[in-house]
Amino acid sequence: MLKRFLLTPGPTPVPPEVLSALGEPVVHHRAPRFTEILTEVIAGLKHVFQTANDVLVFAASGTGAMESAVVNVVNPGDHVLVASMGNFGERWLKLTKNWGAEVTALEYEWGTRADPADIEKALAADPAIKAVYVQFSETSTGVVNDIKAIGAIVAKTPAILVVDAISGLGATDLKTDAWHVDICVAGAQKALMVPPGLAYVAVSEKAWKVVEACTTPRFYFDYPTYRKKMTGDNAQTPYTPAVSLMVAQNAAIGLIRQEGLDNVFERHRWLGKACKAGVQALGIELFGPDDPEANSVTACKVPAGVDGGKITKVARDKYGVWLAGGQGKLKGQIFRFGHCGYFGASDILVGLGVLEMVLAELGFDVKWGAGTGAAAQVLSQSPVQL
Ligand SMILES: *Cc1c(COP(=O)(O)O)cnc(C)c1O
Repeated sequence: MLKRFLLTPGPTPVPPEVLSALGEPVVHHRAPRFTEILTEVIAGLKHVFQTANDVLVFAASGTGAMESAVVNVVNPGDHVLVASMGNFGERWLKLTKNWGAEVTALEYEWGTRADPADIEKALAADPAIKAVYVQFSETSTGVVNDIKAIGAIVAKTPAILVVDAISGLGATDLKTDAWHVDICVAGAQKALMVPPGLAYVAVSEKAWKVVEACTTPRFYFDYPTYRKKMTGDNAQTPYTPAVSLMVAQNAAIGLIRQEGLDNVFERHRWLGKACKAGVQALGIELFGPDDPEANSVTACKVPAGVDGGKITKVARDKYGVWLAGGQGKLKGQIFRFGHCGYFGASDILVGLGVLEMVLAELGFDVKWGAGTGAAAQVLSQSPVQL
């Protein structure tokens, strides 16, 4: 027997209350009960997104919603700006180029943030730019962008701001409306604590004008089709929804409401802080800035002399713990702890304890208990439940 733990930034562990909601008998999606569920899910998502904008729900992984934010916005030849600092930023580049956009790419070193001043300059240099694409939490590096600053800049221009908040929403404070995010993209399987298969977008009035003028052919992800069906009193989905996942998402939002959004963010701050303190106490360097708001992922450099690919493999095969490796060009160079969603103090201690055992096995000089001790000391200071 091997007890399994997911310590990855997606998919993430699912709370028992959500797992049992998944087991409820399937409701027909044209039944009045489904309208109630959908209405509750949308209201709950609006609370988590901190938005009064329309929220649309798709049966898709997060990337489906990212694609939706391109096909509903970009006509071939349109100018867009992509600020990329990791694997998921590259996905915006690929998506926008695939759909024929003329892309201005601001490419930053992986592990650093996008500089809002560069975005301001690029927008001033090309007033034809109609959309700015960026990540909130760049899951491949753990970096969190300053969306508040970027939003204030983009809001002063005709361009819309499209933010991939797939791993950050529900872990780190993101004020969709107050920070002028025009299309905010999220997914169920990260901080929103549901198995994979649902993706969400919140669409502002400014974005709706762009969407309505966009003539790119699209069908499954056509925003106006969803808006027509999903908003109003008799909310439905245009096509068969992932009914059971929505029931699960409703239960997960219930847990978020019970804890309170501010406490959810505070819990993630403490988990991030403790995880970072733990790895550093073991003599491992963080990858990227030590940012107190970067709470979804702790990215760590593989120490010299250790085979990076083996860290995740030994953790998984011997101890049943899934850590994440490096993605794209960071493969073998970093490893990552995910702690967005259903995570608590005990998960951080498990992760760091297993890391100590794994590193020792791989020849690293481990000071036993240094990582778990440092993390425990931080966690013990939290004023909120962890
Ligand atoms: C997970 C993730 C995605 C991709 O989502 P899928 O559900 O795998 O399609 C995109 N962007 C970010 C920031 C992510 O963390």
